[in-house]
Amino acid sequence: MEKIRYFCPNCWEEVLKDTKICPYCGADIEKMEREGTYLDKLINALKSNDYFTARSAVYILGEIGDPKAIDALSICIEEGDPYIAAEAVIAIAKIKGVRALDLIEKAKGHQYVTVRRAAFEAEKILKNREGEES
Ligand SMILES: [Zn+2]
Repeated sequence: MEKIRYFCPNCWEEVLKDTKICPYCGADIEKMEREGTYLDKLINALKSNDYFTARSAVYILGEIGDPKAIDALSICIEEGDPYIAAEAVIAIAKIKGVRALDLIEKAKGHQYVTVRRAAFEAEKILKNREGEES
């Protein structure tokens, strides 16, 4: 199993998986997860001007795998910085589903080669995961 990294959605410091209160900024991570604001915060962070924040958010959204993030991630692919767009393609592969397949297929024709490469990588991830499940 690959190790999943977690980040505080308030200050973006890396925290351990079951952290309830962020040791860096004191944010109540457990409460944010319970109230569903964690996902919203991550989706909002995709628009951050801070490269690290936006990229971390893309990564975590892929790990969480909630299909609600797909729309926001597809906007990242269209409008984002090419590296963030590439990361978003991979995140979408982790979320899976019919829309993921379509978006990955579309990303193969993306204007940036980094994103096109990520699309082929994402396709492999999708195929591997399908193999694991059947
Ligand atoms: Zn924090």
